[in-house]
Amino acid sequence: MQRYAIIGHPVSHSVSPKLHNAAFAAVGLDCHYEAIDIDPADLGDGIASLRSSGIAGFNVTIPHKKGILPLLDRIDDAARAVGAVNTVVHRDGVLTGYNTDIHGFRALIAPFEKAVNGGTVGILGAGGASRAVLHVLTTSFTPRRIVVLNRTTERAEEIAGEFSSSPVPIVPESLFQDELQELVSGLGVIINTTSVGMKPYTDASPLEQIDFRRDQIVADLIYTPAETALLKAAKEAGATAVGGLEMFLQQAAESFRLWTGKEVNMRKLWEGLE
Ligand code: NAP
Repeated sequence: MQRYAIIGHPVSHSVSPKLHNAAFAAVGLDCHYEAIDIDPADLGDGIASLRSSGIAGFNVTIPHKKGILPLLDRIDDAARAVGAVNTVVHRDGVLTGYNTDIHGFRALIAPFEKAVNGGTVGILGAGGASRAVLHVLTTSFTPRRIVVLNRTTERAEEIAGEFSSSPVPIVPESLFQDELQELVSGLGVIINTTSVGMKPYTDASPLEQIDFRRDQIVADLIYTPAETALLKAAKEAGATAVGGLEMFLQQAAESFRLWTGKEVNMRKLWEGLE
């Protein structure tokens, strides 16, 4: 039996073991996927032990997506550009890192291509997920301008600097400012990459008391809950609200494809699990 896992801290809440074990069963592979909690201080030892155990592959989640880079033998170009790895393949003794959040976000945003291209896109947050979103928006789409709004403005400035060679102008802004309503009203597409509103703090929103327009598209990468407070407010204003489940399922499908070479319909599996 081949072993797979997700590593993170904490990680016991992850639904990835359920989903991937269902996927292995669906394609008839004798594999098992488990959640492994690794404290950031033990990441080096943890990866060495996974390597010697002969694990076939693993997902990487918060807070290890960045820290794992120097511990791998090879890193895929897109994952290196984003500076984060969420999938590792262990083949012939070589650990190779990929970032399938890129595939997941591309699938989430693809139906809104018309609004993104030529439009002004606002990204809330400047962490790992924000970098994957910026990578997709600047390499697969042609927005006129991207505004990165973050609680810590220095991080928004840092990320804008990292993507400064992109053909799209990237403007860093504070998420806490007097002109926030005006700024948000100027956005055609809004993408939340902060963790604000995630279970169990489901009443919180990164844009409290902000009015949305009917023609705005508001996406949230959070998928627990399926409808965040941000999406609820957007929906009530008549805007298009898009949850993060599609991204989660598509990143999982791409990880599974990298490990097994097999395509699975993760949405169908997810609906079965629910
Ligand atoms: P991260 O690197 O830790 O970044 C977290 C971001 O949230 C930072 O910009 C941080 O701002 C902001 N933030 C945290 N608490 C805040 C608060 N109280 N008020 C305002 N801003 C706050 O995390 P990440 O890896 O980017 O993940 C972010 C979210 O995306 C998580 O909810 C994760 O579940 C979700 N995600 C979903 C998928 C999917 O498949 N759907 C994939 C990846 C990530 P500061 O810089 O000021 O700290």
